[in-house]
Amino acid sequence: MSDQEQMLAASPELGLLQMVAAISETSPQSIAVGAPGRSPLTYGGLSACVAALVDQLASHSLDPSDVVATVFPNGPESAVAFLAVIHLSACAPVNPDLGPDEARDLVDRLGVRLVLTLAGWNAPALEAIRAIGIVVVELDAQQFGEPAQAYPSMSANTLSPRLRAPGDAALILTTSGTTSRPKVVPLTHANLAASAHNIATWLMLGPQDRCLNVMPLFHVHGLVAAVLATLVSGGEVVCTPGFDATQFLPWLASHQPTWFTAVPTMHQAIAERARQLPHEVAPTRLRFVRSASAALPPSVAQDIEERFRAPMIEAYGMTEGAHQIASNPLPPRLRRPGTVGLAAGPQIAVMDLSGRPVAAEVVGEIVMRGPNVVRGYADSSANTEAFFGDWLRTGDQGVLSVDGYLTITGRLKEIINRGGEKISPREIDELLLSHPAVQQAVTFAVPDRRLGEQVAAAVVLREDATERALREFVAQHLSAFKVPRRILVLDALPKGPTGKLQRIGLAAQLGLRDLDDDDRDEATHVGPFGHVHTEPHTPAQQFLADLWADVLKLSRVGIHDRFLDVGGDSLAAVRLLARIHEALDVEVSMIDFFDRPTVSAQADLIERVLLDQQ
Ligand code: AMP
Repeated sequence: MSDQEQMLAASPELGLLQMVAAISETSPQSIAVGAPGRSPLTYGGLSACVAALVDQLASHSLDPSDVVATVFPNGPESAVAFLAVIHLSACAPVNPDLGPDEARDLVDRLGVRLVLTLAGWNAPALEAIRAIGIVVVELDAQQFGEPAQAYPSMSANTLSPRLRAPGDAALILTTSGTTSRPKVVPLTHANLAASAHNIATWLMLGPQDRCLNVMPLFHVHGLVAAVLATLVSGGEVVCTPGFDATQFLPWLASHQPTWFTAVPTMHQAIAERARQLPHEVAPTRLRFVRSASAALPPSVAQDIEERFRAPMIEAYGMTEGAHQIASNPLPPRLRRPGTVGLAAGPQIAVMDLSGRPVAAEVVGEIVMRGPNVVRGYADSSANTEAFFGDWLRTGDQGVLSVDGYLTITGRLKEIINRGGEKISPREIDELLLSHPAVQQAVTFAVPDRRLGEQVAAAVVLREDATERALREFVAQHLSAFKVPRRILVLDALPKGPTGKLQRIGLAAQLGLRDLDDDDRDEATHVGPFGHVHTEPHTPAQQFLADLWADVLKLSRVGIHDRFLDVGGDSLAAVRLLARIHEALDVEVSMIDFFDRPTVSAQADLIERVLLDQQ
């Protein structure tokens, strides 16, 4: 038996923590967790860190039914803290960038007992949490480093009295619900063990593998596919501070991972960087590249495959399934672009509206069942509609081919999928309705070539308010990605045949499509994703193109390149806005910046502001 087969022989019935503990016992010197520019942690070191953290946490008399929130910057600490917390209680990893209202609501909703964070680091979410008086335990960065000497290890023996039962909640996440509040998904130890094992088996992961993680670790994709699937199969996961297009190719060259997993918008940005900076694409030892969480355009898949000479494996995941549901297989088995592949863990079926399976090639709702699938939402009222018997309804519409390949054809649920980030339309409706000028509001998805979907809303007003004022109002309360790209002011909201507001199909009814198309003008060269590249021809365009190139470390920027497509993100935007302010004394808001995602549109804005100032 090869090393790999030996590792994969570990059965998920053993339990998640026991699977990792077994590797720590047999291969304590192997590297488990790395990070750019930092010393790696071995499996033995990981055990020791986790064991010490468990001891420290035990002094807070935590109960298995308690919820401990972790608020960490993306990186190895987040992964290690998660493993420690789940020895004692359930862990709710919190997005550190949540706005104060969102963070307070979440912590309150989950009944969080204790919050863990990193000393000397702060985040908007943490400030809000501290303000409501929950105990916040600050851990030192040294607690996550390789210990100088062995400490009682995370072995099944040392910690067995505290190890949780398979049915105990381990990971608490929320979905972006279509009802008034997001639904709480309590994933158990058994769910996580099954899912990590499914992913490791499907991808044939073993001790020789190294995953470069760029996904946030407060979401199942990064936590289960990158971290847990690696740690149950004896490989290494390099935990980066998060996706950064400007760093990605250097990370790939220096860490030499055998695989990475990301959402389609990241793949698109990576492919674009590789196109612009071919000298940064070093030879790799990639065995495959994985994509999940939103639909991957076949052209992006092909581009990544050609640039990195590695097969692209598109998978279909969902929080309620502890991530992986279906996946295209590794070669030599057939990868079928445009499909999400075969059942890759749970059983899947396609059913009609009354819960009867439909024949192959017939469209219906995708359902799943299996050890990785949540038994029910924490709020039991949501469960009646969420299941057909023991089959969990995904709310995704799809079709199975005769040979078992699944294609996602649409969505029955109303959640907006903005490039992998899920947004609850009801949350935005409710916020808009709390504005004194808004009488009715409906938030909906608009198809978007790059992100898959964008957020838009329509409102009926009781008193005057501008679209801009309403968008700024949303921006004050919610994370930036939830701010509707357009808010249409209408005399009445379109209703469906039964008189109910219907989000699905509303964009088409209102004639909305690809909201960023407004800022394209004459084309001189069409790039691989349909971007238009034109050289700057005004001083403002030249100034901005040079600034973008400097901040994003690009050799050349076309005036129609879109900021996010060429590797920009919100951090880079903050740096750019500061540089614009410094050089021109012009204040550009974040909303204005993302509303005008090209050099051309931003140059127009800046010229207008400068004219007004004269
Ligand atoms: P999440 O719970 O954030 O993982 O989101 C799950 C949802 O993302 C699914 O129900 C789908 O709507 C969507 N999704 C995940 N993977 C894919 C994919 N490969 N193609 C299309 N949609 C996907």
